[in-house]
Amino acid sequence: MKIKYLGTAAAEGIPALFCRCDICKEARKRGGREIRTRSQAIIDEKLLIDFPADSYLHILHYNMDFSSIEHLLITHSHDDHFYPFDLLMRMSEYGHDMGAKVLHIYGNSVVGNLLKEFSDRFSVPEVWNYMQFHELTPFEKFKIEDYTIYPLPSRHMRTETALIYLIEHNGKTILYGNDSSMFYDEVWEFLKGRTLDCVSLDCTMGRTPSNFSHMNYEDNVAVKKRLEELGCTTPDTRWICVHFSHNGQMLYREMTELAAVDNFEVAWDGMEVGF
Ligand SMILES: [Zn+2]
Ligand SMILES: [Zn+2]
Ligand SMILES: [Zn+2]
Repeated sequence: MKIKYLGTAAAEGIPALFCRCDICKEARKRGGREIRTRSQAIIDEKLLIDFPADSYLHILHYNMDFSSIEHLLITHSHDDHFYPFDLLMRMSEYGHDMGAKVLHIYGNSVVGNLLKEFSDRFSVPEVWNYMQFHELTPFEKFKIEDYTIYPLPSRHMRTETALIYLIEHNGKTILYGNDSSMFYDEVWEFLKGRTLDCVSLDCTMGRTPSNFSHMNYEDNVAVKKRLEELGCTTPDTRWICVHFSHNGQMLYREMTELAAVDNFEVAWDGMEVGF
């Protein structure tokens, strides 16, 4: 399997939309991997995860054709992961000769309601000709072609059940773990004994204290230790931290030095990981 990170920032981006803090100033100066757009990833050029407002920037930057994408997994309704308005651009007057007839969208009930709300608001029932929504239940597995996917509840929001995803394909497994703070007991229980080939974790808070919604780097290391204890890892397991904010007080270069000690890789916009 292969994951490509298209965007690796939290909601405000790095540099943030309206900010002159030291982290943002330094990121502007350094450029390159210090610049982070909002969260999006793609597995095997097939399964798109999340749809932020930066999706348009991503098709330009990576020269991608989203019209051919058939499956979109949404983690939760925060706007750095789900910007439904741009899905209107799939309507016949805005998108021609599309590679896929229907876009299947998978997510929780809030995501489904937002899709309904915007089709009503713009009076465009036509959207349902080209989008199909599939509401997910935590721990209930589903199939997309020969991928088996388990949506898992994440401790992230009080107003909806945000989801992280365990995706299996051809004997390989990835845990796509943001947005999330420390996992629920049921999630640890579920993961026990499963072999994970790639673990991608929320590192929003960097070297500052974590909170109800997000992990920091220390939490990422604690998750790794616990998964090792639960028998979920191999010497080849890839460990990745992602979803960064200027509030985490860490830039790419410094974060990479810190993470190397624990065998973590620091995601950057455009990074591809095969496993
Ligand atoms: Zn986020
Ligand atoms: Zn800033
Ligand atoms: Zn979020």
